[in-house]
Amino acid sequence: MDLAKRVNELKEILNKASEAYYVYDNPIMEDYEYDKLITELITIEDANPELKTADSPTNRIGGEVLSKFEKVTHAQKMMSLSDAFSYDELRDFDNRVKALAPNATYLCELKIDGLSVSLRYENGYLVLGATRGNGSIGENITHNVKTIKSVPLKLKNDLSIEVRGEIFMPKKSFVALNLEREANEEELFANCRNAAAGSVRQLDSSIAAKRNLDVYLYYYLGQNVNTQEEALIEMKELGFKVNPLYKHCNTIDDVIEYIKDMGEKRPDLPYDIDGIVIKVNEIKLHDVIGETVKYPKWAIAYKFPPEEVSTKLLDITYQVGRSGVITPVASFKPVFVQGSLISKATLHNEDYILAKDIHINDSVIIRKAGDVIPEVVRPLVEERGIDAIAFKMITNCPCCNSELVRRDGEADYYCLNPNCEEKLINKLIHFASKPAYNIDTLGDKLCEQLYNAGFMKNIADIFKLKNHYNELIILPGLGAKSIDKLLDRIEVSKNNNLDQLLFGLGIRHCGAKIAKLLCRKFKDIDGLMSATYDDIISIGDVGDAIAYEFVEYMKNAENIALINELRELGLNMTYEFGEIKESYFTSKKCVLTGTLSSMGRTDAKKLIESHGGSLTDSVSKKTDILILGENPGSKYDKAKALGIYIMNEEEFLSKIKE
Ligand code: NAD
Repeated sequence: MDLAKRVNELKEILNKASEAYYVYDNPIMEDYEYDKLITELITIEDANPELKTADSPTNRIGGEVLSKFEKVTHAQKMMSLSDAFSYDELRDFDNRVKALAPNATYLCELKIDGLSVSLRYENGYLVLGATRGNGSIGENITHNVKTIKSVPLKLKNDLSIEVRGEIFMPKKSFVALNLEREANEEELFANCRNAAAGSVRQLDSSIAAKRNLDVYLYYYLGQNVNTQEEALIEMKELGFKVNPLYKHCNTIDDVIEYIKDMGEKRPDLPYDIDGIVIKVNEIKLHDVIGETVKYPKWAIAYKFPPEEVSTKLLDITYQVGRSGVITPVASFKPVFVQGSLISKATLHNEDYILAKDIHINDSVIIRKAGDVIPEVVRPLVEERGIDAIAFKMITNCPCCNSELVRRDGEADYYCLNPNCEEKLINKLIHFASKPAYNIDTLGDKLCEQLYNAGFMKNIADIFKLKNHYNELIILPGLGAKSIDKLLDRIEVSKNNNLDQLLFGLGIRHCGAKIAKLLCRKFKDIDGLMSATYDDIISIGDVGDAIAYEFVEYMKNAENIALINELRELGLNMTYEFGEIKESYFTSKKCVLTGTLSSMGRTDAKKLIESHGGSLTDSVSKKTDILILGENPGSKYDKAKALGIYIMNEEEFLSKIKE
């Protein structure tokens, strides 16, 4: 083999993959594949040092820093970790350590699968949150870090320190986020790590605020502690969140025991881990053992093998979403993965299948992303038989046969026929679903049955079902009792809040949270129907595409007729701020000074009250928070003099959304 050629090839593939992974949080290859290729490059470079160049990905930590963020130079480099994939490699690591530091012991910690963050405090206040970036220069993400509830904004004492740790998205939040994205027909995140990275590396902090991120700290920079264990304990005492499942081990055998134990606990942990980090516990030995340009030699990451199983891909079928989006779905011979039997996984779109080179009848590797969502990792191309059928995207809708269209710049194909039955049924299913109008007696199957029986062709028909009582009770599997329950529930649902209706209508890009924001701003259906593009954009958290689609929807004569019909059928058309919510503002006395750009004083008062707080007119010792608008008055000086917590409009809005 021409090694120089292979090195160049590997460098090119790995650099492309790293860019997609680190810079755009959107991996184009599996970690497993990446690790295999980087190991190959390391092996070639070690045996042929003349082939190792300064620009090799084996020298590089992370990716480039996105220019949309302010750059931050790290006081001390944020390093990566070298990997071990077997116990033998761990024993080699132990031998290398013991040759230099015979008395070293180890502290084992969970390797949380998120992204590393550095937090800087000055005089007790959080002043900076930064990503690792390329190790020397990171991105300033303070605005997003502040939205993570477990990050203390102020320490118990006035220390000036730096701590480092991992921001992650708990499995539950990852699944909820992907379900919501699925309901909104948005692209799904591949795993918890990408979801966390994609949330933190946003300019708009309201996105991170909504994503339920969390953090574990594991590194206390430059402080007077003797061991890593002491560092963890001290950080905990300072108010930082430290993962409690660490263990001090005297020998490498103890380390391996701990790894086995945690490997068993892994599926039940509420967050994703991809391995165990083993660090020499005695900090004074770190300098003795040293580091390379990329990672410390006194620590190593043992990577768990992903739980992957192989099975046979039997078919690729297609679903038609409520917007007409066509999703290919893999059906495979049922297999157990991490405790549950699975037989289907989304294949997202044509490009995804072609990039993975998936054929029908291939043996494929299956796993669960975030330990939950089934995913086809790759086909076993080496086992491909003569019965393999190359994938070819369908050209016509599997339901109504109309020609599919791929929009410019999108990976998805759409069925544009407004009367496509699968689309219509899915619209009804979406409307009745829990996050939308929440008619729990009207499940997916019943929607389909009532549609097929001709009683429910659009959303308005749901509220006219009562006119068909005698016909409904004789439908197979139903009967008077279940129809009574269904109709009662439908009647009660008419009082639902307006944001539920708005989300239920299925307007492109208008998810549950956007629906709430729009309702909050425009208050009733007339306000929503007459909102202009500029009115919508002025909300701040609502982007171009949403504003455009929303205005287009509200201009369409058929949609106007549907809304008017729903109004006549008695559905609630105004937005109620609702019950009092347990929140950051619960029992807090707030004062507002100056003007807020997003709302008037009356609305701010309503909002604070609906979140359990109160808004009073003047600042006193009893005031908890001063909300600072534009052109503040003397209340600002008074609050400063009394040491009252002052928050600007951005922080106020992000706390409200928590
Ligand atoms: P890494 O993820 O293997 O390990 C280093 C990181 O571990 C640290 O920076 C820190 O953020 C984290 N960590 C979590 N818990 C920790 C703890 N308790 N103590 C210390 N650190 C802890 O290294 P990396 O350089 O961030 O990334 C390399 C990995 O990224 C590879 O395994 C590879 O699979 C993956 N990757 C994948 C692609 C792809 O295309 N799929 C591309 C590039 C990298």
